[in-house]
Amino acid sequence: MAPVDTARARAAMKTSIATVSISGEFPEKLAAIAKAGFTGVEIFENDFLTYDASPREVSRMAADHGLDITLFQPFRDFEGMPEPHRARAFDRAQRKFDIMGELGTDLILICSNVSPISLGGIDRAAADFYELGELAARHGVRVGYEALAWGRHVSDHRDAWEVVRRADHANVGIILDSFHTLSRKIDPNSIRSIPGDKIFIVQLADAPLFDMDLLYWSRHFRNMPGEGDLPVVDFMRAVAATGYNGPLSLEIFNDQFRGGSARALAEDGHRSLVYIMDQVRRLEPDIAITAPDMPDRIHTQGVEFVEFTTAAEDKDDLGALLSTLGFSRSARHRNRDVDLYTQGDIRIVINTDTQSDSFASASYSVHGTNAYAFGIKVENAADALKRAAALGAPTFAEPRQPGEAAVPAIQGVGNGVVYFLDDTPALSGIWDNEFVAIDEKSEAAGAGLTRIDHLAQTTRYDEMLTWLLFYTSIFSTRRTPMVDVVDPGGLVRSQAIESVPEPAFRLTMNGADSRKTFAGKFLAEGFGTSIQHIALATDDIFATAKQLEARGFQALPISRNYYDDLEARFGLEPEFSDALRAASILYDRDDNGEYFQIYSRTFGEGFFFEVVERRGAYAGYGAMNAPFRIAAQRRLLRPDGMPKS
Ligand code: MG
Ligand code: MG
Repeated sequence: MAPVDTARARAAMKTSIATVSISGEFPEKLAAIAKAGFTGVEIFENDFLTYDASPREVSRMAADHGLDITLFQPFRDFEGMPEPHRARAFDRAQRKFDIMGELGTDLILICSNVSPISLGGIDRAAADFYELGELAARHGVRVGYEALAWGRHVSDHRDAWEVVRRADHANVGIILDSFHTLSRKIDPNSIRSIPGDKIFIVQLADAPLFDMDLLYWSRHFRNMPGEGDLPVVDFMRAVAATGYNGPLSLEIFNDQFRGGSARALAEDGHRSLVYIMDQVRRLEPDIAITAPDMPDRIHTQGVEFVEFTTAAEDKDDLGALLSTLGFSRSARHRNRDVDLYTQGDIRIVINTDTQSDSFASASYSVHGTNAYAFGIKVENAADALKRAAALGAPTFAEPRQPGEAAVPAIQGVGNGVVYFLDDTPALSGIWDNEFVAIDEKSEAAGAGLTRIDHLAQTTRYDEMLTWLLFYTSIFSTRRTPMVDVVDPGGLVRSQAIESVPEPAFRLTMNGADSRKTFAGKFLAEGFGTSIQHIALATDDIFATAKQLEARGFQALPISRNYYDDLEARFGLEPEFSDALRAASILYDRDDNGEYFQIYSRTFGEGFFFEVVERRGAYAGYGAMNAPFRIAAQRRLLRPDGMPKS
């Protein structure tokens, strides 16, 4: 295939979103939709009726934002009506067609009839649509027929298509909606036989897999493509195979989104469309697909470093904690107040450059001490930046001093910074070129820690999907199923993403609903989403525990009850559980292997380290131990919720 001009492809990709999908007042919605890069918008009649704008005003507002009105909806209970309802349905249609003229759109969505008085029969419906097509033609508009998953007589796009095919009218086409097809587990490949020019618009939505009433599921739990569990990519591949090249329009009904930020939802939505079309383009190389050209999902080779920002007066405390974990302060930045601590392949950077106008300084003044940045090792850092930018991630750069490399970076979760590093000399050389080695290594340095096992980010629950989509769209990763962690103060939902094929990069996201949870307190005290813990890997947890103890490391004390329960649950030998208890090691086991965890006490606003050993192919994160960890952390809190010093 010829290389595609990115700017032209982006301009040509027609993206749209229904106003009902995002929160806010009507003008705020339009502004957010335009800002996120959409070219079109679906107008829900209720949205402007409740805002008290006329169709002409709506048309002008959309035009002011450069948005096409791709669709007017919904029109319900049209086909198969007995008289006198049938005549009334045509009257209603006539009125809607008049509104469409004022709105400046030529397409209306007619969803399949749910009325108990409606009559079935493909030919009856086709005849109604032929007549409606004639009326539409006189008004210069088109009608699109959508099979609702819970329609009374038509609930399958294959039947809707048969109605449209038999109506055989140029102004009548089909509207496909991924939710209605995929929620009923209808094979999306059945779409391939529909001529692309008879598909008037394609609506996309994903959803988590729930076994519930289809209508309720659809109205409350839809989410952006890539955020749920439905095979929306397969659906879109089949659509692409028809030659359809019209707007891709998001139609998302989600209770949580209604309370979210309009700007963030619009950005997530646009990202989801770019991401899905990038996947379709790669899976269907023989089809001309309009999508931005960008590098494929980025393979990650692990976390190269984590960087804390802190004040000069707090840096010794953090350094002391690292020292008890076996780290050595091994280098200092040539130009800046930045120290490098190392152990095994782990690099931890402490930035106390708080006098300058650096981003680290700004992050410190908002959040206090926090792990505001990390670096991911990739094959090609420039490619990683290109892909992230194409997916709408804000790129990040700071003024450099002479001799400092330009490290490609983006702003990620909680406005933290994600750097991309690779093996090019400029990037792999930064540790030697920009840092001066210092010899503070005591002979007892090292506690057997080898690499970063995972980073754990804490976020508000309603932002979790945003960040999951962010990571999974940029990086070659998979999501683990969501698990609920019970905190005495409320539920914390936890989900991990792991790089594939090798889990070299692991990140857990913990979504807190309530300020009363330990994670929620961290959010409140630290003013937002951030890395709350860093898990460091060892190959021998018991040897590491001994070394940590010798270095004065204070493990998070775990209750005796935990070990009694553990012994019973797994049938552990008493000597083994005694050894775990003596070193405050938590334990988990599944069919694949074993997991050992030691937690540090909390630092600053509730940050902590974890030391882990994985044996065999254990792939989890010890979720069932989390309530015990949280209980132990809570016992160490002062009554005001701050860590006891
Ligand atoms: Mg729909
Ligand atoms: Mg962990």
